[in-house]
Amino acid sequence: MKVTRNGIDTFRGPGDWFTGTVFIDAVADAPPLGAIAVHFAPGARTAWHTHPHGQTIWVTEGIGLCQREGGSIEIIHPGDRVFFEPNENHWHGAAPNRMMTHIAIALADDSGSPVTWGRHVSDEEYGEAPDVTA
Ligand code: MN
Repeated sequence: MKVTRNGIDTFRGPGDWFTGTVFIDAVADAPPLGAIAVHFAPGARTAWHTHPHGQTIWVTEGIGLCQREGGSIEIIHPGDRVFFEPNENHWHGAAPNRMMTHIAIALADDSGSPVTWGRHVSDEEYGEAPDVTA
């Protein structure tokens, strides 16, 4: 057993991988298992990406959006869980007018990577989200 006290710095989501303001807290670092809490400001979102072994996200706060390639944008709320299939291209983030926090859980592949990043989600793509207040 190892207790890690609440002394790990929050870090900023890099601009290469995210649009907008994103902060990340490490939840679990037990390779190949990794889990993070990701805090998205309104309008912030990941770039398009895939996970070699898939990914589970669990929304803890706010209102979020997610989309798989070829699918429509889904609205997600606290308590909602989303599983992205292995190598399914997708993105996730906050609604335009609300913050969103989710826990993200994924396994790294044999090279140690839990994710492969693609291009940013354009404003046009993001703008196709349904009205979260409806
Ligand atoms: Mn993902």
